[in-house]
Amino acid sequence: MSLKLTYIGLGSNLAYPIEQVRQALDELATLPLSRLVAASSLYASRPVGPQDQPDFINAVAALETRLSPLALLDQLQALEQQHRRRRQHHWGPRTLDLDLLLYANDHIDTPRLRVPHPHMTTRAFVLAPLAEIAPSIQLYQTPLTCWLERIEQQDPGQSLERLAKA
Ligand code: ADP
Ligand code: MG
Repeated sequence: MSLKLTYIGLGSNLAYPIEQVRQALDELATLPLSRLVAASSLYASRPVGPQDQPDFINAVAALETRLSPLALLDQLQALEQQHRRRRQHHWGPRTLDLDLLLYANDHIDTPRLRVPHPHMTTRAFVLAPLAEIAPSIQLYQTPLTCWLERIEQQDPGQSLERLAKA
């Protein structure tokens, strides 16, 4: 496999979410045939869907890899399992969620894997950290900045690093 640039969305809202996401970034850096090339700062945001659960911590990472899309998904799901994620209900709380957002310019539509990730263009907590590490990227031939403008009324959450410097 040739080298592909991919973007991965990280999320957690259980069991010290900041640590879960920081640790997951370290683990992404150790994946086989892969190199972590960038990581956004961490964002804290209100949950999508059921509101009776803790806030989320989100981030986006850029990974260069020679893994195929499904082999990469296998690795991401193995990491989720290591974080003892229990799949309870859709959009419910989780210790670690790893979503394959983009895999080079590939479009994949299979039951197990859809890329670009179907919800990424409508979620500020994905687009804002992605913009930090890939400001000039295009999604469906449209600049990321345009996607961000479409949802500008949506709160991307507080950037923890920005909070720390305030
Ligand atoms: P969500 O992230 O939407 O809250 P889950 O993390 O529980 O939901 O994922 C459910 C299923 O989504 C997984 O079994 C996986 O096979 C599938 N899936 C489809 N496309 C993707 C993708 N791009 N990244 C990660 N999982 C995906
Ligand atoms: Mg997921």
